Amino acid sequence: MTGIRSMLVSPLAYKGNHVGVLKVMSKKPYQFSHTEEILLDLVNDTLSAAMYLAAKMDSNELLYHATHDSMTQLANRGLFMERLRASMHQYKPGKEDIWVMLLDMDGLKVLNDTYGHHIGDQAIKVMAERIKNNSKIKDTVARLGGDEFAVLKETSPNIKIELLIKRLKRVLELPFEYQHHTYPLGASIGAANYPKDSTEADGLLMFADNQMYEAKRARKEVVSAIVAVHH
Ligand code: GH3
Ligand code: MG
Repeated sequence: MTGIRSMLVSPLAYKGNHVGVLKVMSKKPYQFSHTEEILLDLVNDTLSAAMYLAAKMDSNELLYHATHDSMTQLANRGLFMERLRASMHQYKPGKEDIWVMLLDMDGLKVLNDTYGHHIGDQAIKVMAERIKNNSKIKDTVARLGGDEFAVLKETSPNIKIELLIKRLKRVLELPFEYQHHTYPLGASIGAANYPKDSTEADGLLMFADNQMYEAKRARKEVVSAIVAVHH
């Protein structure tokens, strides 16, 4: 490019590794504002990570990285939604039931605030492992983000999902041990059935989320009733 009158230069680095330089040029003088500088920094972060990973990993690793959560190694939201849509596409009425289960950990904030963020991280990992261990191999178990997980299940028709939820909840509610200390753990669970509760992937997640929220509200009412009795 000739006749450059203004330019923004931003070094590309990921985890302390130099991966390149990002230059934005213009033929006009004083072309770039402070807002654009900030925007460039944001682009820079994403670009640096992508370039670093692309240079370091082969295509299988890249695909894994793009579809899994790095803390728990579970599927991420993108992969979960893809599997859900594929499952809906292959659905044959009367042959199997498709379920989306949504789980949100109980009281993770308190755990973080009381014992520190690394104990919170540990709780997330233990929760992920327990959900995985209590699911079938062909189920898709995902961490949707934060303390929220989802399970995609294909079951024989007409199973009682409430029983599955109850059984899973019991396992998830056992306290966990970490470095010779014991910490509380638990999750609230909601579920949605395809096509009964919604015929859309997003709709199923929303329905399961509402059910989960109801379960959480009921749990909090019980907890506050217990606290009230103790005072
Ligand atoms: P509730 O029982 O109502 O679900 O409350 P909660 O304390 O579990 O909090 P909520 O579900 O509303 O929000 C999730 C919290 O989880 C927010 C944040 O403090 C924490 N969190 C999210 N991601 C992480 C993470 O990667 N590590 C840790 N340690 N904490 C996280
Ligand atoms: Mg929570």
